[in-house]
Amino acid sequence: MGVIERLAAGERLSLGEWRSLIADEETYPSSRLGELAVSVRDSIYGRRVFIRGLVEFTSYCRNDCYYCGIRRSNGKAARYRMTPESILETCVRGYACGFRTFVLQGGEDLFWSDDILVPLIRNIKESCPGAAVTLSLGERSDESYGRLRDAGADRYLLRHETADSAHYGRLHPSSMSLDGRKRCLWTLKRLGYQTGAGMMIGSPYSSVDTLAADMAFLQELSPEMVGMGPFIPHHDTPFRNEKRGSVALTLRMISLVRLALPHALIPATTALATASDDGHIQGFNAGANVVMPNITPQQEREKYSLYDGKKISGEEDGSDLSVIFDSFRKAGYEASMERGDYL
Ligand code: SAH
Repeated sequence: MGVIERLAAGERLSLGEWRSLIADEETYPSSRLGELAVSVRDSIYGRRVFIRGLVEFTSYCRNDCYYCGIRRSNGKAARYRMTPESILETCVRGYACGFRTFVLQGGEDLFWSDDILVPLIRNIKESCPGAAVTLSLGERSDESYGRLRDAGADRYLLRHETADSAHYGRLHPSSMSLDGRKRCLWTLKRLGYQTGAGMMIGSPYSSVDTLAADMAFLQELSPEMVGMGPFIPHHDTPFRNEKRGSVALTLRMISLVRLALPHALIPATTALATASDDGHIQGFNAGANVVMPNITPQQEREKYSLYDGKKISGEEDGSDLSVIFDSFRKAGYEASMERGDYL
């Protein structure tokens, strides 16, 4: 059996096999991987792409990730923190527009204790019946993840960023570690969250080897969601002069993740749409099936600046859904506002 057939049969591949799938464009052309990925996706989810409302609710962060524009050491970053009331209001407004998943994302901001988050999650679940709440607040204690889950949180996004620990150490200060990140991911799975991992593509010092490690880790963890986007430098970070990640490689990795994890919910990310005008559609055509338009109130939106040029209008703007729906329909995709749980 060939490598692709073995992958389709659910087998774990070796790092060497992953390296060839990632790098050997001649034997495995991206166009072919894309077609296979699309047919796998279509057989499970059809041509529906799921729409999630993204609320970027705080730009304060205690971490200092070298790539990220809202890192602690960036004294020029504009900081804001929405109130629990305005987060709830934003979700309720989104619910009236039809959103059935709310993704609350932010920096690791210590203001957001469990005592504040638990009633907020409960209120959102109560005011928006049937909607899913997805959290993306970084690393917390097992106990905290448990309390937030008990309050009703359904899903949690925590990208592992890279599954190569030496590489992880070159992207983050020594206060953070790949082991810590992985422990959080396993805890989230154990607690019954639909769990999202993922990595930037083309981050500084990444290589075919680090991507192979990512694929092996994703096969092991088997997350319900996998977020990937090209690395895009931010001018006020140590990586300001580093090269942007490749769109083509990002698309290829989306296809490989789809083949490895057929049921995964894979977003065509804002970073992908920022790096390429046609990013969402290209992402779908590579095997993605989720989009997360921004429903953060306009005055905060531009302050959540993770990388330069981050798109906040057009298809990224959740207040103008008709734009999204039309452009997706033209490309043969039906935007779905359903909860869109993992099948
Ligand atoms: N604090 C949360 C949310 C982080 S922001 C957490 O730790 O999970 C969400 C994602 O944006 C990050 O996981 C990272 O992969 C991505 N990101 C950050 N800076 C980026 C950059 N310069 N280019 C591309 N993606 C970036």
